[in-house]
Amino acid sequence: MEYKKNDLAEVTITDIGNDGEGIGKIDGYTLFIKDAVIGDTVSAKIMKAKKNYAYAHLEKVLKPSPFRVDAPCPVARQCGGCQIQNLSYEKQLEYKYDKVKNDLLRIGGFSQEEVAAVMEPIVGMDEPFRYRNKAQFPVGCDREGKLISGFYAGRTHSIIPVEDCLLGVKENKEILEAVLSYMRECKVSSYDEVTGKGIVRHVLIRKGFTSEELMVCLVINADKLPRQEVLTEKLQNIKNMVSVSVNINKEKTNVILGKKTETICGSDTIEDTLWEVDPSTFNKTDKGVTYSISPKSFYQVNPVQTQKLYSLALSYAGLTGKESVWDLYCGIGTISLFMAPHAKKVYGVEIVPEAIADAKKNAKKNGFDNAEFFVGKAEEVLPKFYENSADEDMTHPDVIVVDPPRKGCDEVCLNTMLQMKPERIVYVSCDPATLARDLRILVDGGYTLSKVRPVDQFPHTVHVETVVLAEKIGQN
Ligand code: SAH
Repeated sequence: MEYKKNDLAEVTITDIGNDGEGIGKIDGYTLFIKDAVIGDTVSAKIMKAKKNYAYAHLEKVLKPSPFRVDAPCPVARQCGGCQIQNLSYEKQLEYKYDKVKNDLLRIGGFSQEEVAAVMEPIVGMDEPFRYRNKAQFPVGCDREGKLISGFYAGRTHSIIPVEDCLLGVKENKEILEAVLSYMRECKVSSYDEVTGKGIVRHVLIRKGFTSEELMVCLVINADKLPRQEVLTEKLQNIKNMVSVSVNINKEKTNVILGKKTETICGSDTIEDTLWEVDPSTFNKTDKGVTYSISPKSFYQVNPVQTQKLYSLALSYAGLTGKESVWDLYCGIGTISLFMAPHAKKVYGVEIVPEAIADAKKNAKKNGFDNAEFFVGKAEEVLPKFYENSADEDMTHPDVIVVDPPRKGCDEVCLNTMLQMKPERIVYVSCDPATLARDLRILVDGGYTLSKVRPVDQFPHTVHVETVVLAEKIGQN
């Protein structure tokens, strides 16, 4: 059977694709159907047909899956943010667990037995909504020329108005209303991506979950905001508003933030504390690290799950106070500073200089004098110290932690890690495919997988984070 455009097909969904879409098969012909849920029987219209597969549009759910739920967000289908809100949370977790497992089998080439022996249950959220501490809302106009803010519809640049995103904090709504009301009152235009004209591009909002402090940054296509005192007055009425700034971005680009940020009211940064939690119960302890965060800082967006992820990484590192640790791809030093009070020395490496500046400030703020940070590529900095340093703590650390971006670790980096022969390697990953590829290299280089634990940092999206412990086999 081969399909062509506009054909209707009836199919039962048997799998979930990489982007959360439903996958169904008819006589070996595969249909990819966005918003169809595993277990549904649907009718779908073929949009783009190839020889063995087609992309189809969900027309009607004929028989709903037992795993289908009503997405609580009214714009879940149009919005590009959530891909699987209509899948029950339990099934979402199962899907993510399976994704990690299957990548270890298929890409890593590990056996069923090996994988079964090391995989631990996925760590989900008790309440998988309102978890994001950061949101970036584009501002624009609808067809009638009315000011709107919201999110981009999936894979496009047209804004759908969203008053209250259910992944974000409740305060977002009040803040957006204040910004739009200022814009209307002072006749401040929104930026138009096509013409490059207009002023307000994005509203960036951050909240410290522990401190409850709020930060608002308007990204503008101008040097100054007209009558900014009207805006600051409105925002100051909102409880816990600590920092209001503008970021200047006059480039015609998709990149949200420009180089220059100017505080127009209150402080340059907000604070937040991430708490160590007990790795077996996830109950909060009284130990924590406080970070100051500026509009441009990279900071994990789901603090509740980040605490669990870092506490697991810390327990996998097995620190007693005597160890030296490298933290590669360290960002603003979040993991390094989690480890610092439990280690002899921690060395962080990160490619973005501003992030390293934040890391150093945060180390000082928390009173840690045993953490050092280096700007550069992990695959360059690590070999440099391995080859040239006389310090055993640096050349032969006890533990190496890595938390690379989606493309995974560079091979030079992995090989240097193997030469350094740490007792334990803790791998924090945001992409199970590159994780599986890199674990194969570590295991072939003399390590054994001890623990693999997926953590759900991004409920209702297809992303999954994983933390892994690999241990050195034998004595050197
Ligand atoms: N561990 C941090 C950040 C993880 S995100 C945290 O949990 O907050 C991955 C980081 O790797 C980013 O900060 C990115 O800037 C950095 N990065 C990307 N490529 C790199 C490279 N080749 N060497 C070092 N750091 C890199």
